[in-house]
Amino acid sequence: MIVELNPRPKHAAAELRGAWCEIDLDAVAQNYRQLRSVVPENVSIIPCLKRNGYGCGAAAVAVALASVGAKGFAVASALDAMAIREAGVKGMILLYPGVLPESRDLIDKLDLTVTVSTVEELARWRAGGPIDVFIKADLGFFRAGASPRNVIKILREAAQFPSVCVKGLYAHMSELPTDSPNSARDQYRRMQAILREAEKEGFRPPIVMMSSTEGVLSYPEMDFDAVDPGALLIGVKESAHLKRTVQLRPALRSISTSLVSVKRVDQSMGPVPNVPGFYENMLLGVIGFGWGDGFPRDVPLEASALILGKRVPILPLAHLEHLRVDLTQVPEAKFGDQVLLLGGNGKERLSIEDVAATWNTDVVGLYANLRDHIPRLYTPVQQ
Ligand SMILES: *Cc1c(COP(=O)(O)O)cnc(C)c1O
Repeated sequence: MIVELNPRPKHAAAELRGAWCEIDLDAVAQNYRQLRSVVPENVSIIPCLKRNGYGCGAAAVAVALASVGAKGFAVASALDAMAIREAGVKGMILLYPGVLPESRDLIDKLDLTVTVSTVEELARWRAGGPIDVFIKADLGFFRAGASPRNVIKILREAAQFPSVCVKGLYAHMSELPTDSPNSARDQYRRMQAILREAEKEGFRPPIVMMSSTEGVLSYPEMDFDAVDPGALLIGVKESAHLKRTVQLRPALRSISTSLVSVKRVDQSMGPVPNVPGFYENMLLGVIGFGWGDGFPRDVPLEASALILGKRVPILPLAHLEHLRVDLTQVPEAKFGDQVLLLGGNGKERLSIEDVAATWNTDVVGLYANLRDHIPRLYTPVQQ
């Protein structure tokens, strides 16, 4: 069943805040299908929907992905897991490290699978009753996860308790710089060594997984039983040397807001502030979007918006929910007009890549910075 989330028409979203993001669920579904077509059928795709589905709304994105075949998901926050369940999505939800045994009631109610990185964590979870776990290995990321040497100890410990069901073993490949030119392959070898040992003792978990976006696109040999990409599904290829070709479409189509004030400044306002871009008698616009909505707090030099198809500069300084624009290029602009901070159809376009670069971040950073209080408008999946 597809649950329609946030099914507000455009004008209603604009009424709520004057600002909204357009999210293309058909692009997300298409990206999933593209990946599905290049990954062997026996390899599960477990979409990673952390940070509220990379700012796109974990619930809506999960519903879209479930409608094209996704059967399990991974998130770091119980809030995201809750939203996915409330939208009616069944199947496994793996919690990456971040949730504590204190939230046990919720975890049982929502039927979530937790991550375990140490024998101590396992004991804490076990104390709350029967539990499904994934064991996480740290293959060189120096983050959460058991060192390769300790994974087998956790597997042995878990095997002693019928109340513990080890559903999987996973790792997230390190992106840290090292002196080894074969860092990815070294990590793969560490995982293989863990598995050899686990198999010898009869503890190999049913799902082994270590590839996110970069891994699944660059190292097909590392598929194992499942992959958990995130960025790829919103349309970001995070890989330099692709082994698999996929055509991806961005999930984010636009960031829109509105002109909430337009005026010709005059001398009765006193002297012109000593800020670049301000001048006497200028036509000043104020837009309903600020640094509290995800815009950079220091207005970047090249920052611009599209109004009536024309590019206008965004002026310093940024305010919590407002920004100023210079309307010299669009004297016909008026109160209530739509303002695009990203997107556009005509000759002028603010592409995701350009906006990310201007806002001093990368594309995933731009997505992760989409704020949850800005309403989202969804383009549905075309079945
Ligand atoms: C973030 C994350 C992913 C997804 O990474 P992408 O690069 O977005 O594909 C997968 N697994 C874990 C454990 C993660 O933290």
